[in-house]
Amino acid sequence: MDVVALGASPEAKPTNPKPTKPPGFKPMAGVPHTAVKSAAGTGHSVVVERCQICDAPDLEPVLFLGYLPPVNAMPAIGSRPCEQPAYPAQVLRCPHCSLVQLGLVVDPAILFPPSYPYTSGTTRVLRENFKELSREVASLYPLSTNDLVIDVGSNDGTLLSNFATRGPVLGIEPTNAGKLAIERGIPTYISFFNRSTIRRVTAEEGHAKLVTATNVFAHIEDVHEVIESVVELMTPDGIFVTESHYLLPLVRTMQYDTIYHEHLRYYSLRSLVNLFDMHDMDVIHARPIPTHGGSIRVYAARRGTYPVRDTVRQMLDAEERELTAERLDDFAKKVAQSKLGLCALLREIKAKGQRVYGVGAPSRASTLINYVGIDAGVMDCVLEIEGSHKIGKYMPGTLIPVCEESKLFEDQPEYAMLLSWHIAEELMPKLWQRGFRGKFIVPLPEPSIM
Ligand SMILES: [Zn+2]
Repeated sequence: MDVVALGASPEAKPTNPKPTKPPGFKPMAGVPHTAVKSAAGTGHSVVVERCQICDAPDLEPVLFLGYLPPVNAMPAIGSRPCEQPAYPAQVLRCPHCSLVQLGLVVDPAILFPPSYPYTSGTTRVLRENFKELSREVASLYPLSTNDLVIDVGSNDGTLLSNFATRGPVLGIEPTNAGKLAIERGIPTYISFFNRSTIRRVTAEEGHAKLVTATNVFAHIEDVHEVIESVVELMTPDGIFVTESHYLLPLVRTMQYDTIYHEHLRYYSLRSLVNLFDMHDMDVIHARPIPTHGGSIRVYAARRGTYPVRDTVRQMLDAEERELTAERLDDFAKKVAQSKLGLCALLREIKAKGQRVYGVGAPSRASTLINYVGIDAGVMDCVLEIEGSHKIGKYMPGTLIPVCEESKLFEDQPEYAMLLSWHIAEELMPKLWQRGFRGKFIVPLPEPSIM
């Protein structure tokens, strides 16, 4: 997991966002951005009183998913229930810059403890996505053989390996995954993404024509500082490419289960355009991509450096039609209905005394299980592939044990609920092929039996 990559250094100074205001934003009197308390190092959580992008105080509630435990809070099977933290998960919308954000920031030390299991996250879909990204860059913004490419939160170097055949690359990665990258020939600074790292990189390696940051941009508390740091790394005509969860498919396909405290912000393109605007940057190209059930890839550069492509206008138009405040209200109602629908479906199954096993324990499963209120009396166990570090533990907030996947084929439960339901089409044929004879429950977007 590359989410810990952008840990702000203690020496990093809090930064003021540029005074440029997004369209429709009215200046707010009161606490300047610098006075907002940071959650990092508190050992607790901090309430989001003001918009994380534009600092407006009048955030509107969208959805409340109850109290969610950290997704890594998985006690060993057999341990007695004990006091454990859970944090309110309220989603808020800023009426000024349109950012959708969580109402609480939890100390990263709680969400990403040293024991946080390393998973490279380089699934087939991600690998293909990175390959496609390098092809897109080559066709839209060709790099010369001297241009440096830097990946922030570079993990095991998978993304950069696609750029390495062309010219110089450099990863910045704080975890041991960086050593794997070095072993495969990808130069990597094993350190946090902070001011001293940036100084060292620019002094020793120069500036980057392309800076990438995938799946980290919604996780970091101070997004303005991240952007300022990235800009420092870039050549004057440098381009920043970032990929994050995308709000539009989240709303369209009921992916409320991707809401948990690691994800602080749920970006629309509108909110990203407003964010970059505050840093005198243009979003020059954007497109939806399929990773994580629906993400957005955005290219940004210093203002006026490149023409803004039509893709930006097209996506903004689609958002203006769909991502209205009314639509978000409707989404919240549908989330509640979907919970009731899933409960009704499970009630019928359990009334017949039939078994339900969960398949897969991704982070999003924790939100689904806790919000819907599924416990060990409803779901007998959750199955993970052999070697998963989650085997032998309880699902967060429950006493549902995580077991090895072969149990599915040995026990043949009547039902298997796909907790990675966003790839249900890929999973079902595989599990049938391997001998599962029961039925599948797909919990979202509509609870259904396959
Ligand atoms: Zn805002």
